[in-house]
Amino acid sequence: MQLSEEQRLMRQSCRQFVDAVVIPFIRKDWQREWLMTPEDRLPPEILAGAEEVGIRTLGVPEEFGGLELDKTSEVQTFAIIAEEIARGDSGLADKLVQNWKVSVLLRRVAPRRLQEKWFQRLIEDPQFLLAHCLTEPRGASDRWLPYNVPEAAMQTRAVKKNGEWVINGRKQFISNGYDAGLYVVYANTDPAVGMLQGTSSFLVPRDTPGLTVARCNETLGCRFMNNGELVFEDMRVPADHLLVENDALGKAAVYFRPGKIIQAAKNLGVGVRAFELAADYVQNYVQGGRILIKHQAVALRIADMATRIEAVRALLERASHAVDANAPDGDALCNMVKVFASEEIMKVAQHAAELHGGNGIMLDFGVEKLLRDAAIFLHMDATVDISKMKIVKSMFPHTAGKYAGPE
Ligand SMILES: Cc1cc2nc3c(=O)[nH]c(=O)nc-3n(C[C@H](O)[C@H](O)[C@H](O)COP(=O)(O)OP(=O)(O)OC[C@H]3O[C@@H](n4cnc5c(N)ncnc54)[C@H](O)[C@@H]3O)c2cc1C
Repeated sequence: MQLSEEQRLMRQSCRQFVDAVVIPFIRKDWQREWLMTPEDRLPPEILAGAEEVGIRTLGVPEEFGGLELDKTSEVQTFAIIAEEIARGDSGLADKLVQNWKVSVLLRRVAPRRLQEKWFQRLIEDPQFLLAHCLTEPRGASDRWLPYNVPEAAMQTRAVKKNGEWVINGRKQFISNGYDAGLYVVYANTDPAVGMLQGTSSFLVPRDTPGLTVARCNETLGCRFMNNGELVFEDMRVPADHLLVENDALGKAAVYFRPGKIIQAAKNLGVGVRAFELAADYVQNYVQGGRILIKHQAVALRIADMATRIEAVRALLERASHAVDANAPDGDALCNMVKVFASEEIMKVAQHAAELHGGNGIMLDFGVEKLLRDAAIFLHMDATVDISKMKIVKSMFPHTAGKYAGPE
């Protein structure tokens, strides 16, 4: 891919930050991701460092102090930077990209006064995080298809009373859910209709009465992003904090399309790091009197890793270009690359662990972390099967796209 001067410079400064700060931190402080006080896991200097290289608040409009990217290639730039950060640490990348993705949504749907207020907070505080809350204990995948029937609607319910919205329900598995300062929350506002017509979105500051951050999930990988659970009990949200009334899921495409590209790009970054470590190891580690790569079975695995990485990269470039161009096949392509990356990079990470033998499984060696990080991508932003359902649904909307229940 031909990079613009802006993209090349951003990638370069991001790569330097990752090589000089993130990778040395991960290697030296490998125990830190296992701290059971989530707020202490990632030292604040790391997010401050991301701020210094100008990658923390991508997506925030220039008029509110953000770094505005060329709109014709914004999603492609997100992909380039997300890959670089995830090469250093996938959890750190999760933390940061959530700010970009939610910013893109807010600049489209939030009232100007609220944009001014919250973008300013985000710009001023390097530790400030945003979160996007859809998933609930009794619903996620159906939402992604979506089965547009009342019985599949969200359980979280928002009712308008005395000029404000009262929200009850809960959300689970939310990226940055444990430590975000501002949440976008989706709730049912019309139980009589399907979720495409009856779901609204709201802007919810962390200190809203009735909002409880119930727990931080202890995840297998990407552990520097604190995934959380939220409970809403008679949570009162002012009327002007309604972002989109009733057709919020359709309007959220502006979040999901770049989101899936970014997801695949982070995943690619994990694969690239796995390749770097494995390539280095097999050139240096001696077994049977020869460095590992001299053994043909080992060399073949390296070829397999490289081929999978290049295939993911090629599809990512094509899909991110389609999303930037708002092409008709953009939706299918971003789902394709998200699911393809998750399965291919899982295999790449497995090769890396296997090529390291016993060392590949030891926590202090640092290779098993890539296997754990790669596994998370199979479950984030829709499962593998649901992503595939979405692809076929966009190709055959009248058959595969219809609810399998009674006609
Ligand atoms: C690390 C992480 C971060 C996340 N971040 C966020 C976030 O920021 N915001 C957010 O809203 N959510 C987030 N999620 C939630 C994520 O989007 C969901 O986990 C995912 O969509 C799957 O939903 P589920 O866990 O409820 O699985 P389920 O829907 O319970 O699925 C369980 C299994 O059943 C299959 N299945 C379910 N329904 C169907 C069906 N109708 N047809 C065929 N197969 C079906 C699924 O494919 C899967 O194999 C995150 C998850 C993880 C792991």
